[in-house]
Amino acid sequence: MSFNIYMPTRVIWGRNCVADNADVFSSLGNRCLILTGGSSAQKSGALDDVTNTLKKSGISYTVFNKISANPLVSVCHEAGAAARDCGAEFIIGIGGGSVLDAAKAVAIYAVDETLSPIDIYKRTYNGNPLKVALVGTTAGTGSEVTAVSVLTNDETGFKKSISGSDCYAAVSFCDPEYTYSMPCDTTISTAFDALAHATEGFFTPKMCMPLEPFARTAISDLVEFFRRLGAGEEITSSLRDKVYYASLCAGLVINTCGTAFPHPLGYILTENYGIPHGMACAAFYPALIKRASEFAEAEKLDLFASFVNRSVDDVIKVLVPFIDIKNVKITREEAELYAARWDSGVPKNFTASPGGLTKEEAVNLLCSI
Ligand code: NAP
Ligand code: FE
Repeated sequence: MSFNIYMPTRVIWGRNCVADNADVFSSLGNRCLILTGGSSAQKSGALDDVTNTLKKSGISYTVFNKISANPLVSVCHEAGAAARDCGAEFIIGIGGGSVLDAAKAVAIYAVDETLSPIDIYKRTYNGNPLKVALVGTTAGTGSEVTAVSVLTNDETGFKKSISGSDCYAAVSFCDPEYTYSMPCDTTISTAFDALAHATEGFFTPKMCMPLEPFARTAISDLVEFFRRLGAGEEITSSLRDKVYYASLCAGLVINTCGTAFPHPLGYILTENYGIPHGMACAAFYPALIKRASEFAEAEKLDLFASFVNRSVDDVIKVLVPFIDIKNVKITREEAELYAARWDSGVPKNFTASPGGLTKEEAVNLLCSI
């Protein structure tokens, strides 16, 4: 056995964890830039909790509320300038994965005004990124615990991540109550993202024993979430708490293992058809577990079966009713055009997938949805 695990973010979980940990904000500085999307930071109650806590601690703040889903490098660049303008000593991101990922990028843009928006992909810059505090409001991406920021390059329109130890938040506040205001479709899509993370990561060669309890919790609780939903149960607060916890467990799995082919293929559905990230990955989930049952080692398959207590076909039956890709149809010509980005080599997510995945197989999968 060999493994290499690093995750330095302080993770604070629990009801009221923002208000109860004012000292943690004080330890980051006296002035900050708060990033949000359009409305979820208010709707979830997280923005009020954060600003009240900052006021009590004498920390001044400016709010930048222009972060969209699938955040653009140009907007993160603009927020970096706003951070410099207000003399921010740290960044707070309040929202779903889009805002959390943006916060990691803004912390870098803020310290080097010579960076152009796309320079962030070069991964060299002057200075040390500002410290980042994250406050999650969706239960899916696990960005709270990953060294990854997924950005959209507005020059190409492609989603492309940056990753590295400079992308870890200093602290992530995880109050499951902030996820309660998510509408049903976002709840389902983000839960699919978490399930994709745990399952894709689990079937990569980097999966290792210390991560097994996280993969087990995430996969079993998320499949159970969909089973209960399919049985007509309501999404209760205790169910939501479980899903948020599962998303963090799944984040710990991908943080070490990375993802497999559903993620890069899903990006194509998001970029070209506006399918939300988690749902876009879910479109390829059945193909992933079918390939796993064909190519993964028997021991791994047995372990997966023990997590879900059902066959691969039954897992697919539980999930399929929730996979809604709005009748996306991709012709072979279109699929080949999308796949041109892999002309110079397939991404490492393909290689890490069960049985590997060639560009031709990726084209077939795109056409088959
Ligand atoms: P999101 O794009 O952050 O948010 C989706 C929508 O949900 C937005 O309209 C948002 O509103 C709304 N929303 C968020 N929380 C809400 C709440 N509590 N109540 C009501 N509405 C709420 O969705 P996401 O799935 O969490 O993040 C997706 C992004 O994360 C993608 O770019 C994906 O590639 C990335 N990702 C990153 C990692 C990683 O490791 N870093 C892993 C997987 C995915 P507002 O616009 O008002 O905020
Ligand atoms: Fe994801």
